[in-house]
Parts: sequence; structure tokens; C-alpha cells
Amino acid sequence: MRCHQYYPVDIVNGPGTRCTLFVSGCVHECPGCYNKSTWRLNSGTAFTQEMEDRIINDLNDTRIRRQGLSLSGGDPLHPQNIADVLKLVQRVRAECPGKDIWLWTGYKLGELTAAQREVVDLINVLIDGKFVQDLKDPALIWRGSSNQVVHHLR
Ligand code: SF4
Repeated sequence: MRCHQYYPVDIVNGPGTRCTLFVSGCVHECPGCYNKSTWRLNSGTAFTQEMEDRIINDLNDTRIRRQGLSLSGGDPLHPQNIADVLKLVQRVRAECPGKDIWLWTGYKLGELTAAQREVVDLINVLIDGKFVQDLKDPALIWRGSSNQVVHHLR
């Protein structure tokens, strides 16, 4: 997997203070996408073992308490991102007790593949669906257009 940005302390993408990772790769091509530079799978920089370890350490850093991890992009559920994202969320579940995981995807919850579902079964909140410019509403929280749904899964 490749990624564009990692924010170790973020108060914008999800509730509370969080660690946020923007991954590379998205097939949805939504008109008006705010993050077009992330569409190509080979854009950004390599997501390394060191980065994975750093995220786990940051989530457990007691000097700045994080509520959890936000995964966005690009699309963390792009088929080619699944293996690395699954490994990361499995580690957060095992090594970061009490931390929540929020994930943004252009796929719809009801249409996920078994592999995508494996990731979603481990997270707390899924914001799903493509961004639709005609349904854009700046008053919405955690989503850009009104067709998208914030699913509180656990
Ligand atoms: S799903 Fe998100 S990242 Fe992908 S094209 Fe749509 S708005 Fe952009």
C-alpha cells in the first residue's frame, strides 16, 4: 500500500483527537472529489512497517491522548489496500485497547466483498458511499454529501 498523509495529531477527521492516515488508490472518480491526487494506486509514498509501528505507538502515547484512528484517502477499502489495512486494524484492536477506528470509503456497506467486510467487522464507524456534488451540504458532519451514511457499527 501507498499513502499520502499521516497526521499523528488530528482534530478534524472524526471525533476527538486522532491519528489520521490518507491512503493512495481510489476507483470511484467522484466529480468534485477534494482529494484527486490520491486516486492513483502508485501515488504518494510507501506505507512501511515503520509507519505501521509508528501509528500503533502514537495511539498508545499517553502524553497526547488519542481517541482513535481515522482511515481515509483515496479509499482504504480499495482491493489492493485491503491486506495492509486489515493488518493495521487487527493490530489496533489487539494492541490499542479503548481506541476507536473510523473509516471513509466510496463503496456502500451493503455491497462490500468478503475481504472488505473483514476490515469493516473490526472498525467502529464506517462512512460509506461516493461523494455526490449535487447532494453536497457543508452543514453535514463527517460526510460531504447527503447520500453518504455514517454507520455506527459497534
Ligand atoms: S470516494 Fe472519496 S477519494 Fe474516491 S473519488 Fe470519491 S470523494 Fe474522491
